[in-house]
Amino acid sequence: MLNIILMGPPGAGKGTQATHLVDKFHLPHISTGDMFREAIAKKTPLGLQAQAIIARGDLVPDDVTCALVKERLSQDDCAKGYLLDGFPRTIPQAEALEKMGEEIGRPVTLVIDLEVPEAELIRRISGRRVCPKCGASYHIDTMKPKVEGICDRCGAELIQRKDDNAESFKTRLDNYYKSTQPLVDFYKAKGLYKCFDGTKPLQELLGEISAELEALK
Ligand code: AMP
Repeated sequence: MLNIILMGPPGAGKGTQATHLVDKFHLPHISTGDMFREAIAKKTPLGLQAQAIIARGDLVPDDVTCALVKERLSQDDCAKGYLLDGFPRTIPQAEALEKMGEEIGRPVTLVIDLEVPEAELIRRISGRRVCPKCGASYHIDTMKPKVEGICDRCGAELIQRKDDNAESFKTRLDNYYKSTQPLVDFYKAKGLYKCFDGTKPLQELLGEISAELEALK
C-alpha cells in the first residue's frame, strides 16, 4: 500500500513533488500546510487559532495538528493509500500517526525525505509564488507560469506566502532542524526511510521517487 510521508525542509520541493505524485498514483494529497491555509482563508476557529503561529513560522501545536490529520485520514478516499505532505513534523506527531495508522489499518509504508542545501532553500523560498486556490508552486526565475502571475493549473492569481519572508523562513528552518530532523532517525530505525537529492531537476527526481513507489504497489 502506498501510505507515504513526504518530508524535507521548507523549500525542498515537497509540494511540487506531491502535486505530481498524487496525480500519477491517484492518492489523496494531505498537506497540513494547505489545510491550515484553507482554514485561515475561511476564518474558521482553527484558522483563527493558527494564523499568527503560521505567519511567524512556528509550528501549530501537536494536538491541534494531529486531530486535523486523524479526521482527514479516516475519510473514505484514504482507503487505498495517502500522501502526507508536511506531516508529521515532530516526534509526538509521528507517534500519534503510528497509532492512527494502526487504528485505521493503514500504517506508513515509506518516508521520502528531500535533501536540499540551505543556500538553495533560501533562493527557492525568496522567489516562490503560490496559487492560493489549488496550492501549485512556482518560482519567479526558475519555475515561471506560462502567463506571469497566473496559475497554469487553475487560472487563479499567484501570491507570495506570508511566511515566505526572511524572518519567518529562519524560524521555520530552525524548527525544522530542532523538531523535524529527529524524524530521520525515528523512521530509519523502522526501516521506512529513503532520502532523495532534492536539487535534481523536477522530472528526474519525480522519476526516481516514482520508481520507489512502483516497487511498493
Ligand atoms: P507548509 O505549507 O508545509 O510549509 O506549512 C506551513 C505552516 O503550517 C508551517 O510553517 C507551520 O506553521 C504549519 N504546519 C504545517 N504542517 C504542520 C505540522 N505538521 N505541525 C505543525 N505545524 C504545521
